[in-house]
Parts: sequence; C-alpha cells; structure tokens
Amino acid sequence: MSGAQHNKGVRHCPFCKQKAGIRIIYGSPPIAVYLLHLKGEVILGQCRSNKSSPDWHCKACGCRWNERTAAIVHPSNV
Ligand SMILES: [Zn+2]
Repeated sequence: MSGAQHNKGVRHCPFCKQKAGIRIIYGSPPIAVYLLHLKGEVILGQCRSNKSSPDWHCKACGCRWNERTAAIVHPSNV
C-alpha cells in the first residue's frame, strides 16, 4: 500500500540518536495498524490528538516527540 510510510517505519530519535522511533497512533486504529501495534512497530496513544501531542516514541530511551513542533518529551517529564 502506498501510504504505508505514514503509519509505519522507524525514525532516528532526536534525543538518543538511535534508530528506534516508532509512530504513535491516536484514535481508533484500523486493523492493519492494530496488527502493527501487536508487533511493536507502532504505539497506540490515547483517544485524543492535537498538534502538540507527540507522534513518535523511542523504544531505546523512552522519549516521545512531535515531528511538527520538534518538542521532545523526555521520560522523566512524562
Ligand atoms: Zn531515544
């Protein structure tokens, strides 16, 4: 599917620089996204989504960040 890159993929963490960032999906996910969640390739967030919500989660250091605002939420601040 051509839109796979939107929901899937790994990003470099802006904090620890490891390639361990996975997508945080908000709201009710389609089954394909839920299967990715079971495989640990995405994270399901709360049922809310606004511009400041972090949309990436680092599996290495646990921080989250928002791609648009570049705001990083460190695990110690959560
Ligand atoms: Zn990290």
